[in-house]
Amino acid sequence: MSDCLFCKIVEGVIPSHKLYEDEHVIGFKDLRPLAKSHLLFIHKKHTKDILDLTKHEPDQLKDLFRGIRIYAEQEGLSEKGFRVVTNMGEDAGQTVFHTHLHVLSGEKLGSFGR
Ligand code: 5GP
Ligand code: ZN
Repeated sequence: MSDCLFCKIVEGVIPSHKLYEDEHVIGFKDLRPLAKSHLLFIHKKHTKDILDLTKHEPDQLKDLFRGIRIYAEQEGLSEKGFRVVTNMGEDAGQTVFHTHLHVLSGEKLGSFGR
């Protein structure tokens, strides 16, 4: 069995609160939310970060953003908006090395880098 935390979530070995799932992607609640709603979207097939993904599995980007779009439509976020973030490597503070997109919503988010 993989010793990747998020692969274990995909396999169901570690429980998660899933709010989105399709053939390729799951979206589940972050354990330590940084906004009223904070989901992590991951591909079911492991890559370690966004550089690994875009180099070896570029089609996964389409799958991930399709999942996020459908989730956003379901939750009525098209009007209010939301934020997508990915941390890559040490300086960004990446802690889990299975590519994941943070999706933050449900409140006015602080300005980002401005
Ligand atoms: P990173 O810091 O790598 O960008 O994001 C990792 C995220 O995974 C963090 O926001 C952290 O709260 C979340 N996280 C860590 N372990 C677990 C877990 O076991 N379950 C869930 N749902 N989230 C986790
Ligand atoms: Zn993994």
